[in-house]
Amino acid sequence: MAVPKRKTSPSKRGMRRSHDSLTVDAFSECSNCGELKRPHHVCGACGHYNGREVLAVA
Ligand SMILES: [Zn+2]
Repeated sequence: MAVPKRKTSPSKRGMRRSHDSLTVDAFSECSNCGELKRPHHVCGACGHYNGREVLAVA
């Protein structure tokens, strides 16, 4: 079985983990009403997408 020749140094470990804190934003602000919406999805609050109304919301 293949086994790493050397223990990962604290420096290399730190370099690898330097991006671990990054997360993708699952929500963005609607440009029409400011409500939180999912990116590339029609706003659930006002039915707008890309600056125009796509769905009629009661
Ligand atoms: Zn909206």
